[in-house]
Amino acid sequence: MTSDSDQQNLRPPPHVLIFPMPVQGHLNPMLKLAHLLCLAEFHVTFIISDSNHRRLLQHTTASAAFSRYPGFQFRSLPDGLPDNHPRRGHGAMELMSSVANVTVPLFKKMMIQENFLASAARRSITCFVADGLLSFAPDFCEENGIPLICFRPATASYFWAIYRFPQLLQAQEIPFGGDMNISIFVKDFVGKSMDGLIESIPGMEGFLRRRDLPGFYRVDDINDPTLKGVVAAVRQINRAQAVILNSCEDLEGQIVAEMQNYVPRVFSIGPIHEQVKYRLTEKEAESSIITASLWAEDRSCIDWLDAQPPKSVIYVSFGSLTLLTREQVLEFLHGLLESSQRFLWVMRPDSVTGSNAEDPVPAELMERIKGKGLLVEWAPQEKVLNHPAVGGFMTHSGWNSTLESIAAGVPMICWPYLGDQQTNSRFVSEVWKIGLDIKDTCDRKIIEKAIRDEMEVRKDEFMERSTNLAKLVKRTISKGGSSYNNWDDLIQYIKSLVI
Ligand code: UDP
Repeated sequence: MTSDSDQQNLRPPPHVLIFPMPVQGHLNPMLKLAHLLCLAEFHVTFIISDSNHRRLLQHTTASAAFSRYPGFQFRSLPDGLPDNHPRRGHGAMELMSSVANVTVPLFKKMMIQENFLASAARRSITCFVADGLLSFAPDFCEENGIPLICFRPATASYFWAIYRFPQLLQAQEIPFGGDMNISIFVKDFVGKSMDGLIESIPGMEGFLRRRDLPGFYRVDDINDPTLKGVVAAVRQINRAQAVILNSCEDLEGQIVAEMQNYVPRVFSIGPIHEQVKYRLTEKEAESSIITASLWAEDRSCIDWLDAQPPKSVIYVSFGSLTLLTREQVLEFLHGLLESSQRFLWVMRPDSVTGSNAEDPVPAELMERIKGKGLLVEWAPQEKVLNHPAVGGFMTHSGWNSTLESIAAGVPMICWPYLGDQQTNSRFVSEVWKIGLDIKDTCDRKIIEKAIRDEMEVRKDEFMERSTNLAKLVKRTISKGGSSYNNWDDLIQYIKSLVI
């Protein structure tokens, strides 16, 4: 005869459905979240776009790695854009409408037809972890009686700055006009000074300027559809049962506390990439880390780094979406060369726009780069940032890159491009004080000075603070740390949702 608890143990585990927006910066942390759930022996279904699935199969071992977990499955659906669509820069914003118009109806159909993915071996889904940008999720979950957990891949501060939209508007701190493109023309903004301090976001008074508000606010018209979309997605957070943040109390404790007064239960479990590494070393070898690169990683850069002196290289990468003009590429290159520092630059093949985009680096500059620098199309970034030769990171301040740099103890030079990046970079320079923020400029002299300051003049001060913050962040995901405990609580919470 079996007891009640035996019966319970024989029943299939919770079945978590994960649905990220189909871009690199959301795919990475949500796939790592899936890995963590697999380690907790949950069943996981991961929605991925056909295009990203093809690229993962081509460039990573993710599929093979997940085959170790029989409870894991990918389900792929079209993202609604044609194959030849670039899916980068502001074009990536088109994914918001194409996912809503094409992917979501197909997803709903699949859920109904397949009885919410129930099978002999697995329960129908017991909880839906939806990307915070998927605004259909609350209605879908309410209609079908499924608990919703909202996953926010960016910071609490970004969330909070968007959540306070009505107060910003009431205080006339927005709109302030501008240009969604990263703008070197901000000086020409009429009316309000970009350096004016923002007063209506509790927890950020005294250091957040208009210039540091999320890039989505850089519009003339507050009815701008992208701004409206992100505000609407954030404001409906109360319809989720819980929120997962890829951040931690040590980085943003005060903001998380502010946020908690208004939103449902918050689980800050970040940095997720470190949480996975830590949990893996408990159960499996480090070699089991799953990467989600949508481009082929050029590992030759690790050999090159091996030959460089400690902390001598500045790593340059602007993430998966940023577009640069050829003029901007040249300003950065001249700044780097004049600074006399060694550098490793990730220049994605599709990342330069405008005339001469196919051949952005003139031959004479290529000659000057030789020996001093290396250009690659895509790098194994976590490995690069943790390499002893790397002493600085010139970044677009995407949240994954920022967290990876913080965890690796590498100071940053921030050149934000869009969205949350404008806010992240301010936290790097003014709150954590682990780098410099050169937003809204693109001038070789400013770039050269920032590199010299970070790699030479103020090197010790930046290194010391970065090393200390890295230790703090590593502690938070280690046994007894807040992110470690929050993860355990989240696992219990997901179990409690199973009827
Ligand atoms: N990345 C990488 N190799 C590269 C450049 C970026 O693996 O050469 C990864 C990086 O480690 C990060 C992600 O791509 O996890 C970029 O996400 P982020 O949020 O920093 O920026 P986004 O691409 O969303 O703008």
